[in-house]
Amino acid sequence: MTMRLLRNAQVFAPQPLGIQDILISGSQIVAIAEHIRLDTNIELEEIDCEQRIVCPGLVDTLTHITGGGGEGGFATRTPEMRLSDAISGGVTTVTGALGTDAVCRTHQELIAKVKGLKEEGLSAYFYTGNYHYPVKTITGSVQQDIMLLEECVGIGEIAIADHRGSQLSWQELAKVAAEARVGGMCSGKAGIVSVHVGSGEDKLSTLFNVAEHTNIPLSQFYPTHINRSPELLADGIRFAKRGGTIDFTASSTPEIIAGGEVKCATALRIALTEGVDPSQLTFSTDGHASLPHFNALGELESLKVGSMQSMLHELRDAVLVEQIALETALKAVTENPARVLRLSGKGKLHPGADADLLLLDPEQLTLHSVMAGGAWFMRNQSIIRKGTFEA
Ligand code: ZN
Repeated sequence: MTMRLLRNAQVFAPQPLGIQDILISGSQIVAIAEHIRLDTNIELEEIDCEQRIVCPGLVDTLTHITGGGGEGGFATRTPEMRLSDAISGGVTTVTGALGTDAVCRTHQELIAKVKGLKEEGLSAYFYTGNYHYPVKTITGSVQQDIMLLEECVGIGEIAIADHRGSQLSWQELAKVAAEARVGGMCSGKAGIVSVHVGSGEDKLSTLFNVAEHTNIPLSQFYPTHINRSPELLADGIRFAKRGGTIDFTASSTPEIIAGGEVKCATALRIALTEGVDPSQLTFSTDGHASLPHFNALGELESLKVGSMQSMLHELRDAVLVEQIALETALKAVTENPARVLRLSGKGKLHPGADADLLLLDPEQLTLHSVMAGGAWFMRNQSIIRKGTFEA
């Protein structure tokens, strides 16, 4: 088992701990302390972090790991992610989801990709279901999928307020959430319902209706794309103030921002200014989703692909442009998403946690090194461990 000692690290766990040493044994952190001294003849890799920031690896709660899109025909299906897509974005934990298409994209393919990424060294999970209702599952029910399939943490992204969704009623969504909730309870998992929120006028009303008319709390739902418009952001802030966690999508394009989307880092600043508890806000990449741009006539003009580097980019903008404290912005990409998905050992640096960590340049917050599961994947800005078929 490899032992590693990171010296002289400016630790953000994500709370700031000052300059510390971090001792790692195998895939776990065993100590964080000042000037760790070891009287041992065990072989030890010692690294001077030169007071770079060391923070948890980013936890991405939504990536289309097997590809997504397809809404503009078969040629618009997006490519699947590669290991280096995650590493170059500082992402060490991914959660895969299907999207609009669950005919040509399957859960079986999703599970194979999750297991492949795990073999390559990432931490990987997935949601059962997709945009649609009745929910497509693997074993026959949402509850069974969550209870019986190791990497299944919930269902999603199920679509509301979107022309591509199944136009499900709050009663139908309540039944899905009840199954996910019980499945989660019985397996010690989150059983979360990841909700894709489209640009429909009804915004989050389906979720508010479930909370109002049933015993299911808003915290069972995890709505994403809340920065899609100022109006949806306002509804999301209402949702968060009533106990839920809301997610902002980091992947975007200048055209989409010009069309009214609130930039992810800006949405964080607005929500914090409005008094939302910082622990109820997250970012995800929506990596490998298609990012369509429609013209004034509603015709598809161009199509881009969601980037897994977007979350790190928005973290940087949150701190450097929006002037949000690093520890607060970091929570949105580490501790908070790990808590929502109940991923123990993820999103925080402490003895006993998984050794998933990033080294960042303290001035510009650029990515210097990436460790996942105690192994180096990037050193000195170079990816040193790639996916099986990457050159
Ligand atoms: Zn979505």
